[in-house]
Amino acid sequence: MRIILIGPPGAGKGTQCQRLVDLLRIPHLSTGEMLRAEVKAATPAGVEAARYMERGQLVPDPIILGMVNRRLSDSDCRDGCLLDGFPRTLPQAETLDDLLERQAMSVDGVIELAVPRDELVRRMLARKRADDDPEIFAKRITSFEVQTAPLLDYYGRQGKLASIDGLGTADEIFARVREAVRRFERNTTRH
Ligand code: ADP
Repeated sequence: MRIILIGPPGAGKGTQCQRLVDLLRIPHLSTGEMLRAEVKAATPAGVEAARYMERGQLVPDPIILGMVNRRLSDSDCRDGCLLDGFPRTLPQAETLDDLLERQAMSVDGVIELAVPRDELVRRMLARKRADDDPEIFAKRITSFEVQTAPLLDYYGRQGKLASIDGLGTADEIFARVREAVRRFERNTTRH
């Protein structure tokens, strides 16, 4: 099962991803986490990525695509994976489709975790992370709305999108996530 979780910053993707990979026993590919590891290790890619991340901007595609492509080729990703934070733009989604197609694979389903903007800001103020400065956080939300939200249409047209309400307890939201996954499973076994 190859699943993508899409949601604005602060939507609670991390929590739901953790539960989902525990349930499905597939690797969790978070580009945000991969980038933070590169930044911490001060690799050339990490040093360049940090300049964008600090400003709430998207990291250039060559860095992202190289990183994701390498990880997707690892043997533990053969039977599936959960993509978190990628794809984030239409070109990234198209590149992902090409990468998977070359290996006779495809995206099985996309889950949108929908949370209103005022709730995102409220949650951000309650947690603390280096790129959680209020102004930068607002930029990340805007980047989501402008660059990432069009992906919802892209996957919706392919009949792969499940939009779920991201408000409620982690348990309530996870029940909705599981229901979406069951629907993807029914779709893939029908092929
Ligand atoms: P969030 O989903 O909370 O915005 P992430 O942890 O997914 O945060 O990503 C943190 C930062 O890493 C982003 O603001 C962006 O600068 C960069 N980043 C992560 N994934 C991508 C991607 N697919 N394309 C471009 N930049 C990315």
